[in-house]
Amino acid sequence: MSGHLKNQQFKEDILRNVYYKDCLSLTELSKLTSKSLPVITSAVNELVNDGFIIEYGLAPSTGGRRPAVFLFNKDKPKYIVAVAMDQLVTRVAIFDLLKTCVCPAEQLDLNPFEDAEGLSKLIIFINSFVERSGLPKEKILGVGVGMPGFVNSEKGINESFFYTERISLKDYLSKEIGLPVFIDNDSSLIALTELRFGAGTDCKELLVVNIGWGTGLGMIINGRLFRGHNGYAGEFSHIPLSNSNNLCSCGKRGCLEVETSLLAMVEKAKSAVESGAESVLKSLFEDQTKLAGDQFLEAARRGDPLALSILSESAFLLGKGISTLIHIMNPEKIVLSGRGAVAGRMFLPAIQQAVNEFCIHKIAEQTTVVVSELGSEAELLGAANLVVDNCSFR
Ligand SMILES: [Zn+2]
Repeated sequence: MSGHLKNQQFKEDILRNVYYKDCLSLTELSKLTSKSLPVITSAVNELVNDGFIIEYGLAPSTGGRRPAVFLFNKDKPKYIVAVAMDQLVTRVAIFDLLKTCVCPAEQLDLNPFEDAEGLSKLIIFINSFVERSGLPKEKILGVGVGMPGFVNSEKGINESFFYTERISLKDYLSKEIGLPVFIDNDSSLIALTELRFGAGTDCKELLVVNIGWGTGLGMIINGRLFRGHNGYAGEFSHIPLSNSNNLCSCGKRGCLEVETSLLAMVEKAKSAVESGAESVLKSLFEDQTKLAGDQFLEAARRGDPLALSILSESAFLLGKGISTLIHIMNPEKIVLSGRGAVAGRMFLPAIQQAVNEFCIHKIAEQTTVVVSELGSEAELLGAANLVVDNCSFR
Protein backbone atom coordinates (compact mmCIF):
# COMPACT_ATOMS: atom_id res chain seq x y z
CA MET A 1 0.00 0.00 0.00
CA SER A 2 1.37 3.43 -0.90
CA GLY A 3 2.25 5.92 1.84
CA HIS A 4 -0.41 8.32 0.56
CA LEU A 5 -3.16 5.66 0.71
CA LYS A 6 -2.04 4.57 4.18
CA ASN A 7 -2.20 8.17 5.40
CA GLN A 8 -5.65 8.58 3.81
CA GLN A 9 -6.95 5.45 5.57
CA PHE A 10 -5.44 6.57 8.87
CA LYS A 11 -7.23 9.92 8.59
CA GLU A 12 -10.51 8.15 7.79
CA ASP A 13 -9.97 6.00 10.88
CA ILE A 14 -9.63 9.20 12.94
CA LEU A 15 -12.87 10.57 11.46
CA ARG A 16 -14.73 7.32 12.30
CA ASN A 17 -13.54 7.53 15.91
CA VAL A 18 -14.65 11.17 16.16
CA TYR A 19 -18.07 10.21 14.73
CA TYR A 20 -18.66 7.45 17.29
CA LYS A 21 -17.43 9.42 20.31
CA ASP A 22 -18.84 12.85 19.22
CA CYS A 23 -15.62 14.61 20.26
CA LEU A 24 -12.11 13.44 21.16
CA SER A 25 -8.86 14.90 22.43
CA LEU A 26 -5.49 14.14 20.80
CA THR A 27 -4.58 11.83 23.72
CA GLU A 28 -7.84 9.88 23.37
CA LEU A 29 -7.31 9.58 19.61
CA SER A 30 -3.76 8.38 20.17
CA LYS A 31 -5.05 5.62 22.48
CA LEU A 32 -7.89 4.60 20.14
CA THR A 33 -5.70 4.38 17.03
CA SER A 34 -2.53 3.12 18.80
CA LYS A 35 -0.48 5.88 17.16
CA SER A 36 1.96 8.27 18.81
CA LEU A 37 0.88 11.80 19.76
CA PRO A 38 3.10 13.51 17.13
CA VAL A 39 1.63 11.27 14.37
CA ILE A 40 -1.94 11.96 15.54
CA THR A 41 -1.29 15.69 15.91
CA SER A 42 -0.02 15.98 12.35
CA ALA A 43 -2.97 14.00 10.87
CA VAL A 44 -5.52 15.97 12.93
CA ASN A 45 -3.94 19.25 11.77
CA GLU A 46 -4.38 18.13 8.16
CA LEU A 47 -8.03 17.23 8.83
CA VAL A 48 -8.61 20.65 10.46
CA ASN A 49 -6.96 22.41 7.48
CA ASP A 50 -9.17 20.43 5.09
CA GLY A 51 -12.22 21.58 7.07
CA PHE A 52 -13.43 18.11 8.17
CA ILE A 53 -13.08 18.72 11.91
CA ILE A 54 -12.63 21.71 14.18
CA GLU A 55 -10.98 22.29 17.52
CA TYR A 56 -13.72 22.94 20.01
CA GLY A 57 -13.75 24.03 23.66
CA LEU A 58 -11.99 22.08 26.34
CA ALA A 59 -12.61 18.56 27.64
CA PRO A 60 -13.75 18.15 31.28
CA SER A 61 -10.73 18.53 33.55
CA THR A 62 -9.09 15.46 35.04
CA GLY A 63 -6.59 17.68 36.82
CA GLY A 64 -3.91 19.75 35.14
CA ARG A 65 -4.34 21.59 31.86
CA ARG A 66 -7.52 20.70 30.03
CA PRO A 67 -7.00 19.32 26.53
CA ALA A 68 -8.78 20.66 23.45
CA VAL A 69 -11.25 18.31 21.76
CA PHE A 70 -12.05 17.82 18.08
CA LEU A 71 -15.42 17.33 16.46
CA PHE A 72 -16.98 17.46 12.99
CA ASN A 73 -17.17 20.88 11.40
CA LYS A 74 -20.83 21.72 10.94
CA ASP A 75 -19.93 24.55 8.54
CA LYS A 76 -18.62 21.99 6.04
CA PRO A 77 -21.27 19.30 6.49
CA LYS A 78 -21.43 15.84 4.97
CA TYR A 79 -24.61 13.77 4.96
CA ILE A 80 -25.69 10.15 5.20
CA VAL A 81 -28.89 8.63 3.85
CA ALA A 82 -30.18 5.97 6.27
CA VAL A 83 -32.75 3.40 5.17
CA ALA A 84 -34.40 1.03 7.64
CA MET A 85 -36.48 -1.75 6.13
CA ASP A 86 -38.57 -4.34 7.92
CA GLN A 87 -41.09 -6.89 6.72
CA LEU A 88 -43.82 -4.29 6.19
CA VAL A 89 -42.43 -0.78 6.34
CA THR A 90 -39.38 1.04 4.95
CA ARG A 91 -38.19 4.33 6.46
CA VAL A 92 -35.63 6.78 5.14
CA ALA A 93 -33.96 9.73 6.88
CA ILE A 94 -30.85 11.87 6.40
CA PHE A 95 -28.28 12.50 9.14
CA ASP A 96 -25.17 14.65 9.33
CA LEU A 97 -21.90 13.51 10.90
CA LEU A 98 -22.90 15.02 14.26
CA LYS A 99 -25.72 12.42 14.19
CA THR A 100 -28.35 15.14 13.85
CA CYS A 101 -31.32 14.09 11.77
CA VAL A 102 -31.48 16.82 9.10
CA CYS A 103 -34.35 15.30 7.09
CA PRO A 104 -36.88 13.53 9.35
CA ALA A 105 -37.91 9.98 8.50
CA GLU A 106 -40.56 9.27 5.90
CA GLN A 107 -42.06 5.84 5.50
CA LEU A 108 -43.37 3.60 2.75
CA ASP A 109 -45.53 0.51 3.14
CA LEU A 110 -43.48 -2.20 1.44
CA ASN A 111 -43.32 -5.95 1.88
CA PRO A 112 -40.01 -6.87 0.21
CA PHE A 113 -40.66 -10.62 0.59
CA GLU A 114 -43.88 -10.52 -1.41
CA ASP A 115 -43.89 -7.42 -3.61
CA ALA A 116 -42.50 -8.25 -7.06
CA GLU A 117 -42.06 -4.51 -7.71
CA GLY A 118 -40.45 -4.00 -4.29
CA LEU A 119 -36.95 -3.19 -5.52
CA SER A 120 -38.05 -0.50 -7.98
CA LYS A 121 -40.44 0.97 -5.38
CA LEU A 122 -37.51 1.18 -2.93
CA ILE A 123 -35.29 2.94 -5.47
CA ILE A 124 -38.01 5.47 -6.41
CA PHE A 125 -38.68 6.13 -2.70
CA ILE A 126 -34.99 6.77 -1.90
CA ASN A 127 -34.34 8.86 -5.03
CA SER A 128 -37.40 11.02 -4.44
CA PHE A 129 -36.43 11.58 -0.78
CA VAL A 130 -32.86 12.56 -1.68
CA GLU A 131 -34.06 14.87 -4.44
CA ARG A 132 -36.63 16.58 -2.21
CA SER A 133 -33.98 17.07 0.51
CA GLY A 134 -32.30 19.57 -1.84
CA LEU A 135 -28.88 18.39 -0.64
CA PRO A 136 -26.19 18.22 -3.33
CA LYS A 137 -25.15 14.63 -4.03
CA GLU A 138 -21.45 15.44 -3.67
CA LYS A 139 -22.11 16.21 -0.01
CA ILE A 140 -23.73 12.81 0.60
CA LEU A 141 -21.26 10.13 1.71
CA GLY A 142 -23.51 7.22 0.89
CA VAL A 143 -26.70 5.29 1.57
CA GLY A 144 -26.89 2.64 4.31
CA VAL A 145 -29.70 0.10 4.04
CA GLY A 146 -30.73 -2.20 6.88
CA MET A 147 -32.94 -5.05 5.65
CA PRO A 148 -34.41 -8.30 6.95
CA GLY A 149 -33.46 -11.62 5.39
CA PHE A 150 -30.21 -13.46 4.71
CA VAL A 151 -27.91 -10.54 3.95
CA ASN A 152 -24.26 -11.07 3.11
CA SER A 153 -22.93 -7.60 3.77
CA GLU A 154 -19.49 -8.26 2.30
CA LYS A 155 -20.83 -9.57 -1.01
CA GLY A 156 -23.64 -6.99 -0.96
CA ILE A 157 -26.40 -9.52 -1.57
CA ASN A 158 -29.66 -10.51 0.09
CA GLU A 159 -30.56 -14.14 -0.53
CA SER A 160 -34.15 -13.71 0.71
CA PHE A 161 -35.43 -11.12 -1.79
CA PHE A 162 -34.39 -8.44 -4.35
CA TYR A 163 -32.44 -10.81 -6.60
CA THR A 164 -30.40 -8.97 -9.21
CA GLU A 165 -28.85 -10.73 -12.20
CA ARG A 166 -25.08 -10.49 -12.91
CA ILE A 167 -24.64 -7.66 -10.40
CA SER A 168 -24.87 -7.57 -6.61
CA LEU A 169 -27.85 -5.86 -5.01
CA LYS A 170 -25.47 -3.34 -3.42
CA ASP A 171 -23.93 -2.42 -6.80
CA TYR A 172 -27.34 -2.32 -8.48
CA LEU A 173 -28.66 0.10 -5.84
CA SER A 174 -25.48 2.23 -6.13
CA LYS A 175 -25.96 2.45 -9.90
CA GLU A 176 -29.66 3.36 -9.67
CA ILE A 177 -29.26 5.87 -6.85
CA GLY A 178 -25.97 7.35 -8.02
CA LEU A 179 -24.36 7.15 -4.59
CA PRO A 180 -22.28 4.49 -2.77
CA VAL A 181 -24.72 2.03 -1.13
CA PHE A 182 -24.00 -0.41 1.71
CA ILE A 183 -26.40 -3.09 2.93
CA ASP A 184 -26.59 -5.22 6.07
CA ASN A 185 -29.06 -7.29 8.05
CA ASP A 186 -31.42 -5.21 10.24
CA SER A 187 -30.74 -7.12 13.47
CA SER A 188 -26.96 -6.89 12.96
CA LEU A 189 -27.19 -3.11 12.53
CA ILE A 190 -29.41 -2.77 15.59
CA ALA A 191 -26.96 -4.84 17.69
CA LEU A 192 -24.02 -2.67 16.61
CA THR A 193 -25.97 0.51 17.41
CA GLU A 194 -26.84 -0.71 20.92
CA LEU A 195 -23.17 -1.59 21.41
CA ARG A 196 -21.89 1.77 20.17
CA PHE A 197 -24.29 4.21 21.75
CA GLY A 198 -27.25 2.36 23.18
CA ALA A 199 -28.05 0.17 26.16
CA GLY A 200 -25.08 -2.13 25.47
CA THR A 201 -22.31 0.48 25.40
CA ASP A 202 -18.97 -0.98 26.55
CA CYS A 203 -20.35 -4.55 26.83
CA LYS A 204 -18.02 -7.19 25.42
CA GLU A 205 -20.56 -10.01 25.47
CA LEU A 206 -23.94 -8.70 24.40
CA LEU A 207 -27.08 -10.12 22.85
CA VAL A 208 -29.56 -7.77 21.19
CA VAL A 209 -33.03 -9.12 20.48
CA ASN A 210 -34.76 -7.24 17.67
CA ILE A 211 -38.47 -7.41 18.45
CA GLY A 212 -40.08 -6.55 15.16
CA TRP A 213 -42.67 -8.18 12.94
CA GLY A 214 -40.37 -11.18 13.34
CA THR A 215 -37.81 -11.73 16.09
CA GLY A 216 -34.16 -11.13 15.20
CA LEU A 217 -30.93 -11.42 17.10
CA GLY A 218 -27.54 -9.74 16.89
CA MET A 219 -24.67 -11.24 18.88
CA ILE A 220 -21.68 -9.26 20.09
CA ILE A 221 -18.82 -11.52 21.10
CA ASN A 222 -15.62 -10.09 22.53
CA GLY A 223 -16.80 -6.60 21.55
CA ARG A 224 -17.43 -7.48 17.87
CA LEU A 225 -20.44 -8.54 15.87
CA PHE A 226 -20.47 -12.31 15.36
CA ARG A 227 -21.65 -13.13 11.83
CA GLY A 228 -20.89 -16.85 11.52
CA HIS A 229 -19.45 -18.61 8.48
CA ASN A 230 -21.62 -16.98 5.78
CA GLY A 231 -22.92 -13.97 7.67
CA TYR A 232 -26.19 -15.61 8.66
CA ALA A 233 -25.60 -16.23 12.37
CA GLY A 234 -28.33 -15.28 14.85
CA GLU A 235 -31.41 -16.95 13.35
CA PHE A 236 -32.69 -17.16 16.89
CA SER A 237 -36.37 -17.11 16.04
CA HIS A 238 -36.14 -20.35 14.06
CA ILE A 239 -35.09 -22.44 17.06
CA PRO A 240 -37.93 -25.00 17.34
CA LEU A 241 -39.17 -23.95 20.78
CA SER A 242 -42.79 -23.18 20.00
CA ASN A 243 -45.55 -25.14 21.68
CA SER A 244 -47.60 -25.03 18.49
CA ASN A 245 -46.89 -26.89 15.29
CA ASN A 246 -47.77 -23.91 13.07
CA LEU A 247 -45.94 -23.40 9.82
CA CYS A 248 -43.26 -20.68 9.98
CA SER A 249 -42.32 -18.23 7.21
CA CYS A 250 -39.07 -20.21 6.81
CA GLY A 251 -41.02 -23.29 5.75
CA LYS A 252 -40.40 -25.28 8.96
CA ARG A 253 -42.76 -25.98 11.81
CA GLY A 254 -42.62 -25.09 15.49
CA CYS A 255 -40.19 -22.16 15.24
CA LEU A 256 -40.12 -19.69 18.12
CA GLU A 257 -41.24 -17.01 15.65
CA VAL A 258 -44.68 -18.52 15.04
CA GLU A 259 -45.63 -17.48 18.57
CA THR A 260 -43.32 -14.62 19.48
CA SER A 261 -43.37 -12.30 16.46
CA LEU A 262 -45.52 -9.18 16.45
CA LEU A 263 -47.35 -10.57 13.42
CA ALA A 264 -48.21 -13.73 15.37
CA MET A 265 -49.44 -11.65 18.32
CA VAL A 266 -51.62 -9.54 16.01
CA GLU A 267 -53.10 -12.69 14.45
CA LYS A 268 -53.95 -14.07 17.91
CA ALA A 269 -55.50 -10.75 18.94
CA LYS A 270 -57.56 -10.53 15.74
CA SER A 271 -59.01 -14.00 16.14
CA ALA A 272 -59.79 -13.35 19.84
CA VAL A 273 -61.61 -10.12 18.91
CA GLU A 274 -63.51 -11.95 16.17
CA SER A 275 -64.57 -14.57 18.73
CA GLY A 276 -66.08 -11.78 20.82
CA ALA A 277 -63.32 -10.96 23.32
CA GLU A 278 -63.73 -7.50 24.90
CA SER A 279 -60.79 -5.27 24.05
CA VAL A 280 -59.92 -1.75 22.89
CA LEU A 281 -58.31 -3.58 19.97
CA LYS A 282 -61.75 -4.02 18.45
CA SER A 283 -61.94 -0.31 17.58
CA LEU A 284 -58.19 0.12 17.08
CA PHE A 285 -58.08 -2.61 14.42
CA GLU A 286 -60.90 -0.83 12.55
CA ASP A 287 -58.57 2.13 11.92
CA GLN A 288 -56.91 0.99 8.71
CA THR A 289 -54.57 4.00 8.57
CA LYS A 290 -52.27 2.52 11.20
CA LEU A 291 -50.37 -0.77 11.20
CA ALA A 292 -52.09 -3.48 13.23
CA GLY A 293 -48.82 -4.29 15.04
CA ASP A 294 -48.45 -0.69 16.23
CA GLN A 295 -52.11 -0.68 17.35
CA PHE A 296 -51.48 -3.89 19.26
CA LEU A 297 -48.44 -2.40 21.06
CA GLU A 298 -50.45 0.75 21.79
CA ALA A 299 -53.25 -1.34 23.35
CA ALA A 300 -50.70 -3.18 25.49
CA ARG A 301 -49.20 0.13 26.59
CA ARG A 302 -52.69 1.31 27.57
CA GLY A 303 -53.08 -1.79 29.73
CA ASP A 304 -55.65 -3.64 27.59
CA PRO A 305 -56.08 -7.07 29.26
CA LEU A 306 -56.34 -9.02 25.97
CA ALA A 307 -53.24 -7.40 24.44
CA LEU A 308 -51.34 -7.83 27.70
CA SER A 309 -52.19 -11.50 28.08
CA ILE A 310 -51.15 -12.30 24.47
CA LEU A 311 -48.00 -10.25 24.88
CA SER A 312 -46.97 -11.99 28.11
CA GLU A 313 -47.57 -15.44 26.62
CA SER A 314 -45.24 -14.55 23.74
CA ALA A 315 -42.75 -12.88 26.04
CA PHE A 316 -42.60 -16.00 28.21
CA LEU A 317 -41.69 -18.11 25.16
CA LEU A 318 -39.18 -15.48 24.11
CA GLY A 319 -37.75 -15.80 27.62
CA LYS A 320 -37.45 -19.55 27.10
CA GLY A 321 -35.44 -18.88 23.93
CA ILE A 322 -33.36 -16.27 25.76
CA SER A 323 -32.63 -18.85 28.49
CA THR A 324 -31.16 -21.12 25.80
CA LEU A 325 -28.98 -18.24 24.61
CA ILE A 326 -27.83 -17.44 28.16
CA HIS A 327 -26.72 -21.05 28.69
CA ILE A 328 -24.73 -21.08 25.45
CA MET A 329 -23.33 -17.54 25.39
CA ASN A 330 -23.12 -16.39 29.04
CA PRO A 331 -23.76 -12.76 28.00
CA GLU A 332 -23.30 -9.78 30.29
CA LYS A 333 -26.43 -8.09 29.03
CA ILE A 334 -29.43 -8.80 26.83
CA VAL A 335 -31.04 -5.75 25.21
CA LEU A 336 -34.61 -5.81 23.88
CA SER A 337 -34.56 -3.43 20.93
CA GLY A 338 -36.31 -2.71 17.64
CA ARG A 339 -39.90 -1.66 16.94
CA GLY A 340 -41.33 -3.77 19.80
CA ALA A 341 -39.10 -2.13 22.40
CA VAL A 342 -41.75 0.58 22.87
CA ALA A 343 -43.66 -2.06 24.83
CA GLY A 344 -40.41 -3.49 26.21
CA ARG A 345 -41.27 -2.95 29.85
CA MET A 346 -44.33 -5.13 29.39
CA PHE A 347 -42.19 -7.91 27.93
CA LEU A 348 -39.78 -7.86 30.86
CA PRO A 349 -41.73 -9.60 33.70
CA ALA A 350 -42.64 -12.65 31.60
CA ILE A 351 -39.14 -12.88 30.10
CA GLN A 352 -37.61 -12.65 33.59
CA GLN A 353 -40.04 -15.30 34.84
CA ALA A 354 -39.00 -17.69 32.04
CA VAL A 355 -35.32 -17.00 32.69
CA ASN A 356 -35.85 -17.78 36.40
CA GLU A 357 -37.69 -20.96 35.51
CA PHE A 358 -35.41 -22.35 32.78
CA CYS A 359 -31.95 -20.94 33.49
CA ILE A 360 -29.32 -22.29 35.85
CA HIS A 361 -29.41 -19.66 38.57
CA LYS A 362 -25.62 -19.26 38.80
CA ILE A 363 -25.44 -18.23 35.11
CA ALA A 364 -28.68 -16.25 34.92
CA GLU A 365 -27.91 -14.05 37.93
CA GLN A 366 -24.95 -12.56 36.05
CA THR A 367 -27.00 -11.54 33.02
CA THR A 368 -29.27 -8.50 32.99
CA VAL A 369 -32.15 -8.07 30.58
CA VAL A 370 -32.83 -4.43 29.70
CA VAL A 371 -35.02 -2.45 27.29
CA SER A 372 -33.44 -0.19 24.67
CA GLU A 373 -34.08 3.54 24.79
CA LEU A 374 -33.43 3.79 21.03
CA GLY A 375 -36.27 1.46 20.01
CA SER A 376 -37.27 1.86 16.38
CA GLU A 377 -34.58 4.55 15.84
CA ALA A 378 -31.86 1.91 16.36
CA GLU A 379 -32.06 0.56 12.80
CA LEU A 380 -31.93 4.03 11.19
CA LEU A 381 -28.90 4.96 13.28
CA GLY A 382 -27.37 1.57 12.44
CA ALA A 383 -27.86 2.23 8.72
CA ALA A 384 -26.06 5.58 9.14
CA ASN A 385 -23.22 3.85 11.02
CA LEU A 386 -22.92 1.34 8.16
CA VAL A 387 -22.07 4.20 5.79
CA VAL A 388 -19.56 5.70 8.24
CA ASP A 389 -17.86 2.29 8.61
CA ASN A 390 -17.48 1.78 4.86
CA CYS A 391 -17.49 5.10 3.06
CA SER A 392 -14.61 7.15 1.87
CA PHE A 393 -14.70 10.65 3.39
CA ARG A 394 -14.13 12.69 0.24
ZN1 LIG B 1 -38.86 -20.65 11.07
